[in-house]
Amino acid sequence: MFKKILFIILPTIIVLTLASRIYSIKPDSKKVLLVYDKRFYFAYSEDIVTSVRELFGHFDMKVVEKQESDYVKNEIKNYDYILVIGLKGNFRNSQLIYDLNNTEKKIFWMGFGIEKLINDSSKYNANIDTSREFVDIEYKNKNFKLGAKRKFNYLKNGFDNVHTYAWVNNGLKKYPLLFNDNNLWYIGRVEVNTVLFYIICDALYEFLEIDIDDNNLTKVYIRIEDVHPFSNCEELKNIGEYLYNRNIPFMIALIPAYVNPETNYITKMSDKPEFIKTIQYLQKIGGSIVLHGFTHQRFGGETSGEGFEFWNGIEDKPIEGDIDEWLYERIEMGLRECVKNEIYPIAFEAPHYAISQEGYRALKNIFSTYIGHIQTADNSFTTTKYPFELRNTKLFNKFIPENLGYITEENPFFIDEITNNINELSVVRGRLGGVFYHSYLGVKKLEKLIKLFENAKITYYDLRNYDHWVKLNDINIKIKDGKYSFSSINENVTKNVIESLFSFGINVLLHVVFFICILLVLIFIFFKRQSNKKLFK
Ligand SMILES: [Zn+2]
Repeated sequence: MFKKILFIILPTIIVLTLASRIYSIKPDSKKVLLVYDKRFYFAYSEDIVTSVRELFGHFDMKVVEKQESDYVKNEIKNYDYILVIGLKGNFRNSQLIYDLNNTEKKIFWMGFGIEKLINDSSKYNANIDTSREFVDIEYKNKNFKLGAKRKFNYLKNGFDNVHTYAWVNNGLKKYPLLFNDNNLWYIGRVEVNTVLFYIICDALYEFLEIDIDDNNLTKVYIRIEDVHPFSNCEELKNIGEYLYNRNIPFMIALIPAYVNPETNYITKMSDKPEFIKTIQYLQKIGGSIVLHGFTHQRFGGETSGEGFEFWNGIEDKPIEGDIDEWLYERIEMGLRECVKNEIYPIAFEAPHYAISQEGYRALKNIFSTYIGHIQTADNSFTTTKYPFELRNTKLFNKFIPENLGYITEENPFFIDEITNNINELSVVRGRLGGVFYHSYLGVKKLEKLIKLFENAKITYYDLRNYDHWVKLNDINIKIKDGKYSFSSINENVTKNVIESLFSFGINVLLHVVFFICILLVLIFIFFKRQSNKKLFK
Protein backbone atom coordinates (compact mmCIF):
# COMPACT_ATOMS: atom_id res chain seq x y z
CA MET A 1 0.00 0.00 0.00
CA PHE A 2 2.73 2.40 1.04
CA LYS A 3 4.63 1.61 -2.14
CA LYS A 4 1.54 2.33 -4.23
CA ILE A 5 1.16 5.73 -2.61
CA LEU A 6 4.83 6.42 -3.23
CA PHE A 7 4.43 5.51 -6.87
CA ILE A 8 1.67 8.07 -7.20
CA ILE A 9 3.14 10.86 -5.08
CA LEU A 10 6.69 10.81 -6.43
CA PRO A 11 5.96 11.29 -10.12
CA THR A 12 3.26 13.87 -9.26
CA ILE A 13 5.70 16.03 -7.29
CA ILE A 14 8.37 15.74 -9.99
CA VAL A 15 5.92 16.55 -12.79
CA LEU A 16 4.48 19.53 -10.87
CA THR A 17 7.93 20.90 -10.11
CA LEU A 18 8.94 20.60 -13.77
CA ALA A 19 5.63 21.95 -15.08
CA SER A 20 6.01 25.14 -13.09
CA ARG A 21 9.23 25.81 -15.04
CA ILE A 22 7.89 25.11 -18.54
CA TYR A 23 6.19 27.84 -20.51
CA SER A 24 3.09 26.94 -22.46
CA ILE A 25 3.33 27.18 -26.22
CA LYS A 26 0.63 29.37 -27.69
CA PRO A 27 -1.00 28.74 -31.04
CA ASP A 28 -1.19 31.62 -33.54
CA SER A 29 -3.54 34.34 -32.38
CA LYS A 30 -6.93 34.54 -34.00
CA LYS A 31 -8.00 37.61 -35.93
CA VAL A 32 -10.99 39.84 -35.35
CA LEU A 33 -12.42 42.32 -37.86
CA LEU A 34 -13.94 45.31 -36.06
CA VAL A 35 -16.28 47.33 -38.27
CA TYR A 36 -17.82 50.55 -36.92
CA ASP A 37 -19.98 53.47 -37.97
CA LYS A 38 -18.63 56.06 -35.51
CA ARG A 39 -15.97 56.12 -32.78
CA PHE A 40 -17.62 58.57 -30.35
CA TYR A 41 -21.11 59.17 -28.95
CA PHE A 42 -22.14 62.78 -29.50
CA ALA A 43 -20.55 65.07 -26.86
CA TYR A 44 -18.61 62.20 -25.20
CA SER A 45 -14.82 61.86 -25.12
CA GLU A 46 -14.32 58.09 -24.85
CA ASP A 47 -13.30 56.45 -28.09
CA ILE A 48 -15.63 53.43 -27.99
CA VAL A 49 -13.83 51.61 -30.80
CA THR A 50 -10.43 51.90 -29.09
CA SER A 51 -11.95 50.87 -25.74
CA VAL A 52 -13.49 47.69 -27.17
CA ARG A 53 -10.52 46.90 -29.44
CA GLU A 54 -8.10 46.81 -26.50
CA LEU A 55 -10.28 44.19 -24.74
CA PHE A 56 -9.17 41.51 -27.20
CA GLY A 57 -5.71 41.71 -25.67
CA HIS A 58 -7.17 39.72 -22.80
CA PHE A 59 -7.89 36.87 -25.20
CA ASP A 60 -4.60 37.02 -27.15
CA MET A 61 -6.41 38.07 -30.33
CA LYS A 62 -5.42 40.60 -32.97
CA VAL A 63 -7.98 43.19 -34.07
CA VAL A 64 -8.18 45.10 -37.34
CA GLU A 65 -10.43 48.20 -37.31
CA LYS A 66 -12.40 49.35 -40.30
CA GLN A 67 -14.86 52.17 -40.84
CA GLU A 68 -17.96 50.56 -42.37
CA SER A 69 -17.70 52.63 -45.56
CA ASP A 70 -14.17 51.26 -46.16
CA TYR A 71 -15.23 47.62 -46.04
CA VAL A 72 -14.65 45.77 -49.32
CA LYS A 73 -16.25 42.61 -50.69
CA ASN A 74 -15.21 39.27 -49.12
CA GLU A 75 -12.97 40.92 -46.52
CA ILE A 76 -14.73 38.89 -43.83
CA LYS A 77 -13.02 35.77 -45.18
CA ASN A 78 -9.65 36.85 -43.75
CA TYR A 79 -10.90 36.84 -40.15
CA ASP A 80 -12.01 34.38 -37.49
CA TYR A 81 -14.57 36.65 -35.81
CA ILE A 82 -16.52 39.72 -36.88
CA LEU A 83 -17.40 42.53 -34.49
CA VAL A 84 -19.69 45.38 -35.48
CA ILE A 85 -20.03 48.54 -33.37
CA GLY A 86 -23.03 50.77 -34.14
CA LEU A 87 -23.17 54.03 -32.17
CA LYS A 88 -25.64 55.76 -34.47
CA GLY A 89 -26.67 52.84 -36.64
CA ASN A 90 -25.58 54.40 -39.94
CA PHE A 91 -24.52 51.40 -41.98
CA ARG A 92 -24.76 52.33 -45.64
CA ASN A 93 -22.34 49.80 -47.10
CA SER A 94 -24.66 47.16 -48.60
CA GLN A 95 -21.70 44.89 -49.45
CA LEU A 96 -20.92 44.66 -45.73
CA ILE A 97 -24.52 43.71 -44.90
CA TYR A 98 -24.58 41.19 -47.79
CA ASP A 99 -21.33 39.52 -46.62
CA LEU A 100 -22.47 39.45 -42.99
CA ASN A 101 -25.69 37.78 -44.07
CA ASN A 102 -23.85 35.13 -46.02
CA THR A 103 -21.14 34.18 -43.56
CA GLU A 104 -21.15 31.27 -41.15
CA LYS A 105 -18.51 33.01 -39.03
CA LYS A 106 -19.52 34.31 -35.63
CA ILE A 107 -20.69 37.92 -35.58
CA PHE A 108 -21.01 40.10 -32.47
CA TRP A 109 -23.07 43.22 -33.20
CA MET A 110 -22.92 45.83 -30.45
CA GLY A 111 -25.39 48.71 -30.52
CA PHE A 112 -27.52 50.20 -33.26
CA GLY A 113 -28.12 49.54 -36.95
CA ILE A 114 -28.72 45.77 -36.59
CA GLU A 115 -32.12 46.04 -38.33
CA LYS A 116 -30.28 46.34 -41.67
CA LEU A 117 -28.90 42.85 -41.12
CA ILE A 118 -31.82 40.95 -39.64
CA ASN A 119 -34.64 42.47 -41.71
CA ASP A 120 -33.06 41.05 -44.89
CA SER A 121 -32.28 37.70 -43.39
CA SER A 122 -34.14 34.42 -43.04
CA LYS A 123 -31.45 33.19 -40.61
CA TYR A 124 -32.44 35.28 -37.60
CA ASN A 125 -35.70 35.35 -35.70
CA ALA A 126 -34.96 38.50 -33.75
CA ASN A 127 -37.43 41.36 -33.83
CA ILE A 128 -35.69 44.46 -32.48
CA ASP A 129 -37.23 47.59 -30.99
CA THR A 130 -35.88 50.69 -29.19
CA SER A 131 -36.82 52.30 -25.88
CA ARG A 132 -35.54 54.92 -23.42
CA GLU A 133 -37.70 53.69 -20.57
CA PHE A 134 -35.51 50.98 -19.04
CA VAL A 135 -34.50 51.31 -15.39
CA ASP A 136 -32.18 48.40 -14.78
CA ILE A 137 -30.08 45.64 -16.33
CA GLU A 138 -30.04 42.03 -15.16
CA TYR A 139 -26.98 39.89 -15.72
CA LYS A 140 -25.94 36.70 -13.91
CA ASN A 141 -28.83 37.12 -11.45
CA LYS A 142 -27.65 40.58 -10.43
CA ASN A 143 -29.53 43.81 -11.04
CA PHE A 144 -27.81 47.06 -11.88
CA LYS A 145 -29.56 50.44 -11.93
CA LEU A 146 -29.26 52.25 -15.25
CA GLY A 147 -29.36 55.85 -14.02
CA ALA A 148 -29.88 58.54 -16.69
CA LYS A 149 -32.36 57.57 -19.40
CA ARG A 150 -30.88 56.65 -22.74
CA LYS A 151 -31.67 54.66 -25.83
CA PHE A 152 -31.44 50.84 -25.75
CA ASN A 153 -32.27 48.33 -28.44
CA TYR A 154 -33.95 45.19 -27.15
CA LEU A 155 -35.57 42.02 -28.41
CA LYS A 156 -39.30 42.65 -28.66
CA ASN A 157 -40.48 39.07 -29.30
CA GLY A 158 -39.23 35.66 -30.36
CA PHE A 159 -37.59 34.99 -26.98
CA ASP A 160 -37.88 31.23 -27.32
CA ASN A 161 -35.56 31.02 -30.29
CA VAL A 162 -32.62 32.82 -28.73
CA HIS A 163 -30.32 32.27 -25.79
CA THR A 164 -30.51 35.35 -23.56
CA TYR A 165 -27.64 36.42 -21.29
CA ALA A 166 -28.76 39.89 -20.11
CA TRP A 167 -32.13 41.63 -19.79
CA VAL A 168 -33.32 45.23 -19.59
CA ASN A 169 -36.26 45.99 -17.34
CA ASN A 170 -38.72 48.89 -17.62
CA GLY A 171 -40.27 48.27 -14.20
CA LEU A 172 -43.11 46.19 -15.67
CA LYS A 173 -41.44 43.66 -17.86
CA LYS A 174 -37.96 42.50 -18.83
CA TYR A 175 -36.65 42.04 -22.38
CA PRO A 176 -33.50 40.42 -23.78
CA LEU A 177 -30.66 42.91 -24.19
CA LEU A 178 -27.79 40.51 -24.85
CA PHE A 179 -28.56 37.32 -26.73
CA ASN A 180 -27.33 34.76 -29.20
CA ASP A 181 -29.31 33.69 -32.26
CA ASN A 182 -27.63 31.30 -34.68
CA ASN A 183 -24.11 32.67 -35.45
CA LEU A 184 -25.18 36.16 -34.36
CA TRP A 185 -24.46 37.69 -30.95
CA TYR A 186 -26.18 40.92 -30.13
CA ILE A 187 -26.19 43.56 -27.38
CA GLY A 188 -28.61 46.51 -27.68
CA ARG A 189 -26.14 49.24 -26.68
CA VAL A 190 -22.40 49.58 -26.16
CA GLU A 191 -20.98 51.66 -23.31
CA VAL A 192 -17.52 51.79 -21.81
CA ASN A 193 -18.06 53.74 -18.60
CA THR A 194 -20.87 51.73 -16.95
CA VAL A 195 -21.46 48.13 -15.88
CA LEU A 196 -22.55 47.48 -19.48
CA PHE A 197 -18.86 47.48 -20.41
CA TYR A 198 -18.17 44.72 -17.88
CA ILE A 199 -21.10 42.70 -19.23
CA ILE A 200 -19.62 43.01 -22.73
CA CYS A 201 -16.20 41.97 -21.37
CA ASP A 202 -17.67 38.84 -19.80
CA ALA A 203 -19.85 38.03 -22.83
CA LEU A 204 -16.68 37.88 -24.96
CA TYR A 205 -15.78 34.62 -23.17
CA GLU A 206 -18.98 33.06 -24.57
CA PHE A 207 -18.65 34.63 -28.00
CA LEU A 208 -15.01 33.58 -28.41
CA GLU A 209 -15.70 30.19 -26.78
CA ILE A 210 -12.94 30.64 -24.24
CA ASP A 211 -13.07 28.49 -21.15
CA ILE A 212 -11.71 29.81 -17.93
CA ASP A 213 -11.22 28.08 -14.66
CA ASP A 214 -13.12 30.67 -12.66
CA ASN A 215 -12.94 29.97 -8.94
CA ASN A 216 -15.16 32.98 -8.33
CA LEU A 217 -12.43 34.75 -6.41
CA THR A 218 -11.62 38.35 -7.25
CA LYS A 219 -7.89 39.05 -7.49
CA VAL A 220 -7.13 42.46 -5.97
CA TYR A 221 -4.08 44.63 -5.49
CA ILE A 222 -3.49 47.63 -3.22
CA ARG A 223 -1.38 50.56 -4.42
CA ILE A 224 0.04 53.14 -2.01
CA GLU A 225 -0.39 56.29 -4.08
CA ASP A 226 1.60 59.47 -4.72
CA VAL A 227 4.57 58.60 -2.51
CA HIS A 228 7.14 61.42 -2.80
CA PRO A 229 10.24 62.69 -0.95
CA PHE A 230 8.13 64.69 1.51
CA SER A 231 5.74 61.81 2.35
CA ASN A 232 5.77 60.95 6.03
CA CYS A 233 8.23 58.06 6.42
CA GLU A 234 6.71 56.89 9.70
CA GLU A 235 3.26 56.57 8.14
CA LEU A 236 4.68 54.78 5.11
CA LYS A 237 6.50 52.30 7.34
CA ASN A 238 3.41 51.67 9.46
CA ILE A 239 1.31 50.98 6.38
CA GLY A 240 3.94 48.73 4.82
CA GLU A 241 4.37 46.73 8.03
CA TYR A 242 0.62 46.48 8.58
CA LEU A 243 0.28 44.87 5.13
CA TYR A 244 3.42 42.75 5.44
CA ASN A 245 2.26 41.31 8.78
CA ARG A 246 -0.93 40.17 7.07
CA ASN A 247 0.90 38.72 4.09
CA ILE A 248 -0.58 41.32 1.76
CA PRO A 249 1.61 42.40 -1.16
CA PHE A 250 1.33 46.01 -2.31
CA MET A 251 2.49 48.48 -4.93
CA ILE A 252 4.06 51.88 -4.31
CA ALA A 253 3.33 54.61 -6.88
CA LEU A 254 6.58 56.54 -6.51
CA ILE A 255 7.22 60.18 -7.50
CA PRO A 256 11.04 60.51 -7.27
CA ALA A 257 11.17 64.33 -7.12
CA TYR A 258 9.03 66.96 -5.43
CA VAL A 259 8.53 70.49 -6.75
CA ASN A 260 7.71 73.28 -4.33
CA PRO A 261 4.88 75.16 -6.09
CA GLU A 262 5.93 78.53 -4.65
CA THR A 263 9.65 78.45 -5.31
CA ASN A 264 9.73 75.75 -8.05
CA TYR A 265 12.61 74.23 -6.09
CA ILE A 266 13.06 70.51 -6.87
CA THR A 267 13.82 68.13 -4.02
CA LYS A 268 14.96 64.75 -5.33
CA MET A 269 14.66 61.68 -3.18
CA SER A 270 18.48 61.44 -3.08
CA ASP A 271 18.32 64.58 -0.91
CA LYS A 272 16.24 62.67 1.65
CA PRO A 273 18.22 59.72 3.07
CA GLU A 274 15.45 58.69 5.46
CA PHE A 275 12.96 58.53 2.62
CA ILE A 276 15.35 56.37 0.54
CA LYS A 277 15.81 53.99 3.48
CA THR A 278 12.04 53.75 3.92
CA ILE A 279 11.37 52.93 0.24
CA GLN A 280 14.20 50.37 0.19
CA TYR A 281 12.68 48.76 3.26
CA LEU A 282 9.15 48.72 1.78
CA GLN A 283 10.59 47.20 -1.40
CA LYS A 284 12.02 44.38 0.74
CA ILE A 285 8.85 43.61 2.66
CA GLY A 286 6.45 43.30 -0.25
CA GLY A 287 6.26 46.61 -2.10
CA SER A 288 6.53 46.62 -5.89
CA ILE A 289 7.70 50.01 -7.13
CA VAL A 290 5.61 51.65 -9.86
CA LEU A 291 7.16 54.78 -11.35
CA HIS A 292 4.53 57.54 -11.17
CA GLY A 293 6.19 60.22 -13.32
CA PHE A 294 9.22 62.26 -12.30
CA THR A 295 7.57 65.18 -10.48
CA HIS A 296 3.83 64.49 -11.12
CA GLN A 297 3.44 68.07 -12.39
CA ARG A 298 4.60 70.13 -15.31
CA PHE A 299 4.03 73.85 -14.98
CA GLY A 300 5.31 76.25 -12.33
CA GLY A 301 2.81 76.68 -9.52
CA GLU A 302 1.66 73.04 -9.73
CA THR A 303 2.23 70.85 -6.69
CA SER A 304 3.83 67.41 -7.09
CA GLY A 305 1.16 64.75 -6.77
CA GLU A 306 -1.53 67.10 -8.06
CA GLY A 307 -0.46 68.36 -11.50
CA PHE A 308 -0.48 66.53 -14.82
CA GLU A 309 2.91 65.59 -16.22
CA PHE A 310 2.19 63.93 -19.57
CA TRP A 311 -0.97 65.84 -20.53
CA ASN A 312 -1.69 69.55 -20.89
CA GLY A 313 -4.12 69.80 -17.99
CA ILE A 314 -4.61 73.54 -18.40
CA GLU A 315 -5.88 73.45 -21.99
CA ASP A 316 -7.06 69.82 -21.75
CA LYS A 317 -5.09 68.50 -24.72
CA PRO A 318 -1.98 66.42 -25.46
CA ILE A 319 1.24 68.19 -24.51
CA GLU A 320 2.61 70.27 -27.37
CA GLY A 321 5.97 69.46 -28.93
CA ASP A 322 7.68 66.11 -29.13
CA ILE A 323 6.01 63.79 -26.61
CA ASP A 324 8.76 61.17 -27.07
CA GLU A 325 11.46 63.64 -26.11
CA TRP A 326 9.57 64.91 -23.05
CA LEU A 327 8.57 61.47 -21.89
CA TYR A 328 12.03 59.92 -22.32
CA GLU A 329 13.65 62.83 -20.51
CA ARG A 330 11.28 62.76 -17.52
CA ILE A 331 11.31 59.00 -17.19
CA GLU A 332 15.07 58.80 -17.51
CA MET A 333 15.47 61.35 -14.69
CA GLY A 334 12.99 59.34 -12.60
CA LEU A 335 14.67 56.00 -13.27
CA ARG A 336 18.19 57.33 -12.57
CA GLU A 337 17.01 58.73 -9.25
CA CYS A 338 15.66 55.28 -8.42
CA VAL A 339 18.45 52.97 -9.53
CA LYS A 340 21.26 54.99 -7.98
CA ASN A 341 19.44 54.49 -4.68
CA GLU A 342 18.83 50.76 -5.27
CA ILE A 343 15.14 51.27 -5.86
CA TYR A 344 13.84 49.33 -8.86
CA PRO A 345 10.55 50.25 -10.54
CA ILE A 346 8.96 47.41 -12.54
CA ALA A 347 5.94 49.25 -14.01
CA PHE A 348 4.65 52.69 -14.89
CA GLU A 349 1.55 54.71 -14.05
CA ALA A 350 0.97 58.12 -15.69
CA PRO A 351 -0.04 60.86 -13.22
CA HIS A 352 -3.87 61.02 -13.18
CA TYR A 353 -3.71 58.23 -15.81
CA ALA A 354 -3.50 61.07 -18.34
CA ILE A 355 -1.45 60.55 -21.49
CA SER A 356 -2.00 60.76 -25.25
CA GLN A 357 -2.16 57.81 -27.66
CA GLU A 358 1.36 58.69 -28.88
CA GLY A 359 2.49 58.68 -25.26
CA TYR A 360 1.32 55.08 -24.77
CA ARG A 361 3.25 54.02 -27.86
CA ALA A 362 6.44 55.65 -26.54
CA LEU A 363 5.94 54.05 -23.11
CA LYS A 364 5.66 50.63 -24.73
CA ASN A 365 9.38 50.82 -25.59
CA ILE A 366 10.37 51.55 -21.99
CA PHE A 367 8.04 49.56 -19.74
CA SER A 368 6.65 46.06 -20.13
CA THR A 369 3.85 46.95 -17.75
CA TYR A 370 1.42 49.83 -17.37
CA ILE A 371 -0.93 50.29 -14.41
CA GLY A 372 -4.20 52.24 -14.17
CA HIS A 373 -7.04 53.32 -16.42
CA ILE A 374 -6.85 53.90 -20.17
CA GLN A 375 -7.27 57.26 -21.79
CA THR A 376 -8.74 56.08 -25.09
CA ALA A 377 -8.70 59.38 -27.03
CA ASP A 378 -6.79 62.64 -27.31
CA ASN A 379 -9.63 65.15 -27.70
CA SER A 380 -10.21 65.55 -23.96
CA PHE A 381 -9.08 63.97 -20.69
CA THR A 382 -11.28 61.04 -19.70
CA THR A 383 -10.37 57.49 -18.76
CA THR A 384 -11.91 54.01 -18.99
CA LYS A 385 -11.77 51.32 -16.29
CA TYR A 386 -11.00 47.77 -17.37
CA PRO A 387 -11.95 44.62 -15.45
CA PHE A 388 -8.99 42.44 -16.42
CA GLU A 389 -5.41 42.32 -17.63
CA LEU A 390 -4.57 43.02 -21.29
CA ARG A 391 -1.55 41.81 -23.23
CA ASN A 392 0.08 42.79 -26.54
CA THR A 393 -2.47 45.33 -27.68
CA LYS A 394 -1.91 48.39 -29.84
CA LEU A 395 -1.31 50.50 -26.70
CA PHE A 396 0.29 48.07 -24.23
CA ASN A 397 2.68 45.20 -23.75
CA LYS A 398 0.92 44.39 -20.50
CA PHE A 399 -1.84 46.41 -18.83
CA ILE A 400 -2.89 45.97 -15.18
CA PRO A 401 -6.18 47.73 -14.37
CA GLU A 402 -7.29 49.82 -11.42
CA ASN A 403 -11.06 49.79 -11.13
CA LEU A 404 -12.16 49.82 -7.49
CA GLY A 405 -11.38 53.46 -6.74
CA TYR A 406 -9.75 55.03 -3.72
CA ILE A 407 -10.35 56.41 -0.28
CA THR A 408 -10.52 60.07 0.61
CA GLU A 409 -10.75 61.86 3.91
CA GLU A 410 -13.90 63.69 2.80
CA ASN A 411 -15.88 60.71 1.53
CA PRO A 412 -17.57 58.78 4.38
CA PHE A 413 -19.17 56.40 1.85
CA PHE A 414 -15.98 54.94 0.48
CA ILE A 415 -16.75 51.47 1.84
CA ASP A 416 -20.13 51.43 0.03
CA GLU A 417 -18.55 52.68 -3.18
CA ILE A 418 -15.76 50.12 -3.19
CA THR A 419 -18.24 47.36 -2.25
CA ASN A 420 -20.40 48.40 -5.19
CA ASN A 421 -17.38 48.43 -7.50
CA ILE A 422 -16.42 44.90 -6.38
CA ASN A 423 -20.00 43.77 -7.01
CA GLU A 424 -19.94 45.16 -10.58
CA LEU A 425 -16.52 43.68 -11.24
CA SER A 426 -17.69 40.27 -9.99
CA VAL A 427 -19.71 39.62 -13.18
CA VAL A 428 -16.49 39.33 -15.18
CA ARG A 429 -14.56 36.08 -15.33
CA GLY A 430 -10.77 36.37 -14.98
CA ARG A 431 -11.17 39.70 -13.24
CA LEU A 432 -8.41 41.67 -11.58
CA GLY A 433 -9.30 44.51 -9.22
CA GLY A 434 -7.12 47.37 -8.09
CA VAL A 435 -7.56 50.00 -5.41
CA PHE A 436 -5.29 52.85 -4.35
CA TYR A 437 -4.63 54.44 -1.00
CA HIS A 438 -2.83 57.61 0.09
CA SER A 439 -0.36 57.08 2.90
CA TYR A 440 -1.30 60.32 4.71
CA LEU A 441 -4.61 58.63 5.68
CA GLY A 442 -2.65 56.43 8.10
CA VAL A 443 -3.44 52.82 9.00
CA LYS A 444 -6.95 53.28 10.45
CA LYS A 445 -8.82 53.64 7.15
CA LEU A 446 -6.67 50.96 5.58
CA GLU A 447 -7.87 48.55 8.28
CA LYS A 448 -11.44 49.18 7.16
CA LEU A 449 -10.51 48.48 3.57
CA ILE A 450 -8.76 45.22 4.49
CA LYS A 451 -11.83 44.16 6.54
CA LEU A 452 -13.97 44.79 3.48
CA PHE A 453 -11.65 42.61 1.39
CA GLU A 454 -11.76 39.89 4.05
CA ASN A 455 -15.56 39.80 3.80
CA ALA A 456 -15.59 39.83 0.00
CA LYS A 457 -14.24 36.78 -1.79
CA ILE A 458 -10.83 38.09 -2.74
CA THR A 459 -7.28 36.91 -3.13
CA TYR A 460 -4.31 39.30 -3.35
CA TYR A 461 -2.45 39.98 -6.57
CA ASP A 462 1.31 40.37 -6.31
CA LEU A 463 3.00 42.20 -9.19
CA ARG A 464 6.30 40.46 -8.32
CA ASN A 465 4.86 37.06 -9.15
CA TYR A 466 4.98 37.96 -12.85
CA ASP A 467 7.79 38.93 -15.21
CA HIS A 468 8.35 42.60 -16.04
CA TRP A 469 11.09 44.71 -17.62
CA VAL A 470 12.14 48.32 -17.84
CA LYS A 471 14.57 49.44 -20.58
CA LEU A 472 15.79 52.95 -21.24
CA ASN A 473 19.18 53.78 -22.76
CA ASP A 474 21.69 51.95 -20.55
CA ILE A 475 19.19 51.15 -17.79
CA ASN A 476 17.86 47.60 -17.68
CA ILE A 477 15.65 46.40 -14.84
CA LYS A 478 14.08 42.97 -14.89
CA ILE A 479 12.05 40.79 -12.61
CA LYS A 480 11.81 37.16 -13.64
CA ASP A 481 10.62 34.24 -11.52
CA GLY A 482 10.49 36.61 -8.57
CA LYS A 483 14.16 37.65 -8.95
CA TYR A 484 15.17 41.21 -9.67
CA SER A 485 18.17 42.05 -11.82
CA PHE A 486 19.65 45.37 -12.84
CA SER A 487 22.24 46.18 -15.46
CA SER A 488 23.68 49.34 -16.90
CA ILE A 489 26.18 49.22 -19.77
CA ASN A 490 27.45 52.75 -19.08
CA GLU A 491 28.08 52.08 -15.43
CA ASN A 492 29.32 48.58 -16.29
CA VAL A 493 27.17 46.81 -13.72
CA THR A 494 25.13 43.64 -13.92
CA LYS A 495 23.75 42.35 -10.68
CA ASN A 496 20.94 40.52 -9.04
CA VAL A 497 19.26 42.89 -6.68
CA ILE A 498 16.80 42.92 -3.80
CA GLU A 499 17.11 39.64 -1.99
CA SER A 500 13.54 40.25 -0.93
CA LEU A 501 11.83 38.20 1.71
CA PHE A 502 9.56 37.13 -1.09
CA SER A 503 12.26 35.46 -3.22
CA PHE A 504 13.77 34.10 -0.02
CA GLY A 505 10.36 32.47 0.64
CA ILE A 506 10.23 30.91 -2.83
CA ASN A 507 13.75 29.54 -2.44
CA VAL A 508 12.85 27.98 0.90
CA LEU A 509 9.75 26.39 -0.65
CA LEU A 510 11.76 24.90 -3.54
CA HIS A 511 14.31 23.47 -1.12
CA VAL A 512 11.58 21.94 1.03
CA VAL A 513 9.99 20.26 -2.03
CA PHE A 514 13.39 18.96 -3.12
CA PHE A 515 14.12 17.63 0.38
CA ILE A 516 10.74 15.83 0.54
CA CYS A 517 11.42 14.20 -2.85
CA ILE A 518 14.84 12.91 -1.69
CA LEU A 519 13.33 11.66 1.56
CA LEU A 520 10.58 9.76 -0.24
CA VAL A 521 13.13 8.17 -2.62
CA LEU A 522 15.22 7.01 0.37
CA ILE A 523 12.17 5.57 2.15
CA PHE A 524 11.18 3.82 -1.07
CA ILE A 525 14.68 2.24 -1.45
CA PHE A 526 14.66 1.18 2.19
CA PHE A 527 11.28 -0.60 1.91
CA LYS A 528 12.27 -2.18 -1.40
CA ARG A 529 15.37 -3.68 0.25
CA GLN A 530 13.38 -4.90 3.22
CA SER A 531 10.88 -6.70 0.99
CA ASN A 532 13.70 -8.19 -1.14
CA LYS A 533 15.31 -9.56 2.01
CA LYS A 534 12.01 -11.17 3.03
CA LEU A 535 11.68 -12.71 -0.41
CA PHE A 536 15.07 -14.45 -0.23
CA LYS A 537 14.72 -15.68 3.37
ZN1 LIG B 1 -0.91 60.50 -8.66
